Amino acid sequence: MKVTANVLLNYIRCRRYASLNDPDAGYSSSEFDSASEYQVHVYRQNFLNLFLDTQEDLNINHNLTYDFHPEIELSETYDFLTRDEQGEVIYCLFPTTSKDFLKQKYNSDGHKPQLFVKNNQGIYMVNIPEKQADQGNFKEKIRKLTDRREDSGRMVYHYAFKRFLYDIVNPENTTRILFVFLNSDYVHDGLSYQKQLYHIFDFSEIYSLMKEIIEADIYRMINHLELSDFVACPLVKKECRKGDSFECKFVDFCFSHIPKNNSILDYFDSHLGFEEPTEAGNVYHDTYDLINEGLVDMNDIPISWLRNELHLMQRYCLDTGKIHVNQLKIEALLKTLRYPLVYLDFEALPCLLPRFRGEKPYSQSVFQYSIHVEEDEGVLDKNGNSHYEFIANHDTDNRRELVESMIKIINRFDSSVIVYHKTFEEQRLKELQDIFPEYKNELQNIIDRLFDLKDVLKNNKKFYLKQGFSEADASRYNFYSCEMSGSYSLKKVIKVFNPNAYQDLTINNGEAAYKAYMSLEFLDQTDRENTINDLLEYCKQDTYSMYEIINGLRKHLSPDFHIR
Ligand code: SF4
Repeated sequence: MKVTANVLLNYIRCRRYASLNDPDAGYSSSEFDSASEYQVHVYRQNFLNLFLDTQEDLNINHNLTYDFHPEIELSETYDFLTRDEQGEVIYCLFPTTSKDFLKQKYNSDGHKPQLFVKNNQGIYMVNIPEKQADQGNFKEKIRKLTDRREDSGRMVYHYAFKRFLYDIVNPENTTRILFVFLNSDYVHDGLSYQKQLYHIFDFSEIYSLMKEIIEADIYRMINHLELSDFVACPLVKKECRKGDSFECKFVDFCFSHIPKNNSILDYFDSHLGFEEPTEAGNVYHDTYDLINEGLVDMNDIPISWLRNELHLMQRYCLDTGKIHVNQLKIEALLKTLRYPLVYLDFEALPCLLPRFRGEKPYSQSVFQYSIHVEEDEGVLDKNGNSHYEFIANHDTDNRRELVESMIKIINRFDSSVIVYHKTFEEQRLKELQDIFPEYKNELQNIIDRLFDLKDVLKNNKKFYLKQGFSEADASRYNFYSCEMSGSYSLKKVIKVFNPNAYQDLTINNGEAAYKAYMSLEFLDQTDRENTINDLLEYCKQDTYSMYEIINGLRKHLSPDFHIR
């Protein structure tokens, strides 16, 4: 069996993983789809062109293996092995940014030095304090970087594993191993990528703390393989990583006993746990401990443990089937709307490499919008001529056309522009202002008119305090139904008003939308046209869902309530 750092990180999550991952069990995983793979390929190719001489001894995709155990072969690929004035150097490229490392600082006598600083060769190294007295919490910060369960720790773990393998195969070596990340502040000039796109890190100072950890983890993995124990083991938040970027591929299987809706995990801020009142004082219960004890439903938690008013609201709605509505607060916010109502939704692609001028690594590159305009209160034809849409070609920069056509539609009016989760659209509009300064004022006009529909359902405490609502009332959520299962996402909220809204759509969420857009260049003409239609239908439903929510809310408000 071939064991890379990634394989090891998975096998040591828990003892059950090894038996579930038996190749005969039929599970498979692929880290990247073809579109993402292509981006990683461009990222590597550019680094090669910019930093390395294509000299004859350059070794690309250099592979090392070592028979550690009769059934375990340690194996890693090193992107480039080359040579500089100081000797051999290996570069390993990762499709992530250096942001997490560069933001890390430690406390030292009232100062906050950065944990990583560039040396005179432009390589980021650990910033070791010169004097013992300046250490502050330096050691603690470094120790955190050796924790594989932290995101940045996982990167350092990859480094340590590669170093470990390289050292066993070449015990006398002096080769330096360097990691390459993307610079999240790099702005693409639209022509070609420059060296500043890349940040190079040397984690060798941390490796000395990790050598033994890697060795122990390999033996732990071997133990898990030998046990081959299929029996369920306790679920551990930091190992299963449900819902995050390092989620275990067996989460659906291991969490299958947890209800899809209204589970204990659907309480707001469930990660904070619950408190049981006892005569000796409150006893804290971690949510995952409770799950492992068999408390998986929202209503498995005793009501006396719900100290938070929002939890009580959730529980009340679940137990009674009633919908919580704060009529006064909802009406107060809706009354600020100005007609005609313009519903706006963007689709954007989070790009590893900036695609066009003005974008940065992992920029949300806007490629599509849908706009519905509701002229008369409560009247809107989903497919009528009050609907406008735009989708960019997958291979050309159509952002100018997108901006100009959007401004033309929206700025015909001076009324409210309704979005769901304002931060996203506001941020995209601000980025477009930087890219097209000639449209700064027109885009600002749209930003100034944005209205977040999520605030109507959840809350906007600042607004309500200004309106004279009490602190307690201003803190409460405005609307809740157990259909929402603890979430205010558009897709959950629409279930209350139109459960079938997305049911017949091929694309029914934002992630599927950008993945479909990314795949366009790999499709033939017919499939491409079908996918474009699917994308248009999906985005149209997003703006129409916002209309359906406002319209559906009316039956929960005063009979004579009108926005106008
Ligand atoms: S989901 Fe959790 S318990 Fe299941 S295999 Fe993965 S880490 Fe182990």
